[in-house]
Amino acid sequence: RFITFEGIDGSGKSTQARLLAAYLRSKGIEVVLTREPGGSPGAEEIRRLLVEGNPDRWSAETEILLFTAARRDHLEKTIRPALERGSTVISDRFADSTRVYQGAARGELRGLVDRLHEAVIGIEPDLTLIIDMDPSRALERGLARKSGEDRFEEMGEGFQHRLRDGFHRLAQDFPGRCHLVDGQRDPDSIAAEVARIADAAL
Ligand code: C5P
Repeated sequence: RFITFEGIDGSGKSTQARLLAAYLRSKGIEVVLTREPGGSPGAEEIRRLLVEGNPDRWSAETEILLFTAARRDHLEKTIRPALERGSTVISDRFADSTRVYQGAARGELRGLVDRLHEAVIGIEPDLTLIIDMDPSRALERGLARKSGEDRFEEMGEGFQHRLRDGFHRLAQDFPGRCHLVDGQRDPDSIAAEVARIADAAL
């Protein structure tokens, strides 16, 4: 099974990915917990190109190619081998982040994102949990993060609002696999809902 977590920066999706991994492991399920951009040595190198340094050095198209290159390596080296071993894979972000961040919120490049996905990635998660959060609440958390690993500040709050709308539209576009989860509660209540959804879906 392939499960992904999505959401804006500071939504708490990484915490929820960890909690779901722990829950499934407690039931004896073998879980590989991974993340994007990154998740394999080569993809982590590409992550550094993307999240460190001046973000304006790449055009939107180049950025899409870099995210897709990282995803291809992550798929070859980490995701596919784990799925073939029978493990459950939980990824903190996957292709939906590129559909929303690069495809919708940064100009109308969704067509390019989708064509590349079909050509070199080709798989979709069985289940996607979108952790929904008001950007001004997330902003406080985003700002609290260590700089250098987070592009939140430079992208601004208006951008985060467009991202949130993008994730809402995504949930409507893929109603079978995508579940919108209210992230503005205590982490344990969110984790309980996520576990319920996962148990029902898988
Ligand atoms: O989720 P995480 O914090 O690890 O993402 C690292 C940074 O890369 C974040 O600031 C996020 O906004 C950005 N990102 C992006 N486009 C993606 C995925 C992540 O701009 N497709």
